[in-house]
Amino acid sequence: MKNILIRYGELTLKGNNRNAFISKLIQNIKYKLKQYKDIIVYKKDHNSLVLEIKDSDKLEEICHILQNIFGIYSLSIVEIVEKDVDLILKRCLEVASKHIGSFKVEVERKDKGFQVSSQDLKTKIAVSILKNNQNITVDVHNPQLKITVIIKHNGAFIFTSRIKASKGLPVGVSGKGLSLLSGGIDSPVASYLTLKRGMQVDFLHFMTPPHTSKEALDKVFQLTSKIEKYNQSNFSLYICDFSIILKELMHIKEESYRITIMRRIFIRIANKLCELIKANAIITGESLGQVASQTIESINVINEVSKLPILRPVLTCDKEEIIEISKKIDTYNISILPFDDVCSMYVPKNPVTKPKSFIAQKQEENLLLDELIDYTITNLIKTYIWKDGELCEKENK
Ligand code: ATP
Ligand code: MG
Repeated sequence: MKNILIRYGELTLKGNNRNAFISKLIQNIKYKLKQYKDIIVYKKDHNSLVLEIKDSDKLEEICHILQNIFGIYSLSIVEIVEKDVDLILKRCLEVASKHIGSFKVEVERKDKGFQVSSQDLKTKIAVSILKNNQNITVDVHNPQLKITVIIKHNGAFIFTSRIKASKGLPVGVSGKGLSLLSGGIDSPVASYLTLKRGMQVDFLHFMTPPHTSKEALDKVFQLTSKIEKYNQSNFSLYICDFSIILKELMHIKEESYRITIMRRIFIRIANKLCELIKANAIITGESLGQVASQTIESINVINEVSKLPILRPVLTCDKEEIIEISKKIDTYNISILPFDDVCSMYVPKNPVTKPKSFIAQKQEENLLLDELIDYTITNLIKTYIWKDGELCEKENK
């Protein structure tokens, strides 16, 4: 029988919230490993979690899923034996028996009642390995094989590697946010970074059919599906048909303000939706100075219409840094597909870079906004919920 030792991430630092954090993490792990529930036994101890895996063939798949769960610092595949010196020696010898090259032994004695000190045990193990394997030498700085033994209250844990995981905080401990997801590179990365800090993310996408294509919408489905492995497994994607409002926005006289006002309406709709779905923040992929509509003046004029905080996790990132993350999370190749999410007819030639709030307000006064926003929210948002590996449309909101 194999075991996976899961080390908790940053949550070990969180004082009184610790138990809540651990419970959330375990809940998230159980959810993501639902399909393996019959072959896993969960064993929780003070600083770590052990999954006993009854079918070793599934070990690799399970580790792969665990690596993407926020709140996990690292994993090790461990063997757990009784706290008996001879037994520990025997297992360590077996582990080192076929190895050729350098090695190192590390012993940590968490159970101070164990009769042998960590130093003595380490020496015993190293000496017996050297005696039994002629092809092996000690290298304490850069060993090719590192055998670690941890003496815990519930057994001696033996392992040879630490697999890095995603760190961060368990999704859900920081509440829920609504991510404005375009088909571009930045907003999926912003969603991922928000998830990393423990905030569950639902998505809102604006489309303007027939000007925007089915392929553009399909990108959004693909992007949310890619991010699912980091998200809560029952997230929602809201698709808002923005065409009626877009038509109204064509009446804006000050053409350079069209994008600013469109963004303000995105945010107004997002605020109302957040209220309905009990989300406490809005997330966008805006990056300071990246394009004309992402200046600090523009951000201020957009923030003005929001009751909720707008989180912009990639605000200070260069495009190159954002692309690097999007490649890591495998959204890049979807994002660069050439289908526009915003009606290109609508985009002004010279969008204002330093919009003024009073001008935006003045332009909006001439439009029938409140009614159209309410109508759109009630009638033109479709909800999709992630269920059993795919997004399913929800009948009634
Ligand atoms: P992205 O790469 O995320 O598309 P971008 O650099 O292209 O960002 P903009 O098109 O100016 O920037 O959009 C800024 C942000 O506004 C996006 O990151 C996203 O959060 C939001 N946004 C833009 N278009 C849409 C849309 N059609 N639906 C939902 N949100 C959108
Ligand atoms: Mg975009």
